[in-house]
Amino acid sequence: MDQVLLSIPYLVAAVLFILSLKGLSSQETARRGNLYGVIGMAIALAATLTAHAITGQGLIYVFVAVLVGAAVGSVLAARVAMTSMPELVALLHSFVGAAAVLVGYASFFQPHGDTPVGQAIHLGEIFLAVWIGAITFTGSVVAFLKLRGTLSGSPLLLPGRHLLNLAAVVVSLLLAVMFVAHWGPDPLLLLLVATAIALAVGVHLVAAIGGADMPVVVSLLNSYSGWTAAAAGFMLSNDLLIVTGALVGASGAILSYIMCRAMNRSILSVVFGGFGAAPTGESASCELTEAGQVRETMADEVAQELLAAQSVVIVPGYGMAVARAQHAVHDMAMLLKKKGAEVRFAIHPVAGRLPGHMNVLLAEASVPYDIVLEMDEINGDLPETDIVLVIGANDIVNPSALTDPGSPIAGMPVLEVWKAQRVVMLKRGRASGYAGVDNPLFYYDNTRMLFGDAHDTMTRLVSELSA
Ligand code: NDP
Repeated sequence: MDQVLLSIPYLVAAVLFILSLKGLSSQETARRGNLYGVIGMAIALAATLTAHAITGQGLIYVFVAVLVGAAVGSVLAARVAMTSMPELVALLHSFVGAAAVLVGYASFFQPHGDTPVGQAIHLGEIFLAVWIGAITFTGSVVAFLKLRGTLSGSPLLLPGRHLLNLAAVVVSLLLAVMFVAHWGPDPLLLLLVATAIALAVGVHLVAAIGGADMPVVVSLLNSYSGWTAAAAGFMLSNDLLIVTGALVGASGAILSYIMCRAMNRSILSVVFGGFGAAPTGESASCELTEAGQVRETMADEVAQELLAAQSVVIVPGYGMAVARAQHAVHDMAMLLKKKGAEVRFAIHPVAGRLPGHMNVLLAEASVPYDIVLEMDEINGDLPETDIVLVIGANDIVNPSALTDPGSPIAGMPVLEVWKAQRVVMLKRGRASGYAGVDNPLFYYDNTRMLFGDAHDTMTRLVSELSA
């Protein structure tokens, strides 16, 4: 297909991808956004196949690959539990990285352009795509293992880790110059050494990031995978891949910035790791753990308090996703609304294990969007709230983030639920959350613990309220 003709479907696909991103930015339009993305990708695939005049056996290979990929993707998407979604996303990012590395090597074995300058530019593109792709690949695999709990969530802090990263970058730059200028040893050997360094950098960068900062890692890897695709686009001279990669890279970078702001971290401090380590100063929470005593409550008692309340705020967290309690939570909220109480949901930006995790679950349970508020919108109202139900959340309501400078989550803004008249925490025991930090809120005077699986407890609460 003519290059100019090809740019028309590519342009349409790029516009659809932009509309898709716009749609995905709010719950009401997310389905439409997803559909735009699917149509855009179908157009892009069809145009690319036509452009390269792939026929006969080549076409069969491509169709088989697309069918296998589509089948695996559909089964994974249908089967994945909401609690495993972050792991799946991390794994998918690793595929982008691996693809860029493989395409980079395939490209290396093809002719590199007609002129010396053309050759040098093409080699530079190959080096960049392979290097970023390798970092994205191993970084995503480590993130997958950390999110899955196979690797510890605490950061790996090697002595002189910043120097190690710097040395890796300097050596890689040197290798890049030698590779592009055909200096020194066999270029394939140079590319292999650079790939090995990039693979190690990927492991090191993500291993150095601690528990509570993992949300930023997920969005950063999203961004890396976009830049990887853009670099592959340059390497393959594919405009759509460049545009799409840049869109994903930029939106991932913006999301990382938003997540960093939500956690009160600077992006550089997260990228170069060290946060989420064991407390360095004196930890107030340790004293509280020794001295504290929790006050347990029962479902019927909480139901009475809820019936008497004028204003109720519900804080969902990762435990709600584990227990799949969102439908029961929706039923309870609707019952209380019917009885005249003001019921609202408070969403912390890093609640759950994926940006937007709680919003997706609540949307799935048909909770009206207008009663779902962000942390900044609702924190100011908590002192006037009669009762806050904390459902399977822990780190996002931990007061030590504000009171204990030695805490790994120090400085992270949290939902200040303790300011409400009554706080009821629904969880199975006294376990800490993802960041592994004790939560002094368990021992506050106005806190009551309602122990049990959140789904069972919510079901009991709903039947008490309906009775
Ligand atoms: P937390 O991980 O802090 O706490 C979840 C709590 O849920 C646990 O303390 C657990 O306590 C309880 N729980 C688990 N299963 C159940 C169940 N079946 N029924 C009732 N309770 C249950 O979750 P938060 O949402 O408060 O905070 C999110 C954390 O995850 C933050 O540290 C964040 O940085 C991190 N993170 C977030 C990501 C994101 O993008 N949003 C990505 C990666 C990490 P118990 O075992 O006692 O029941």
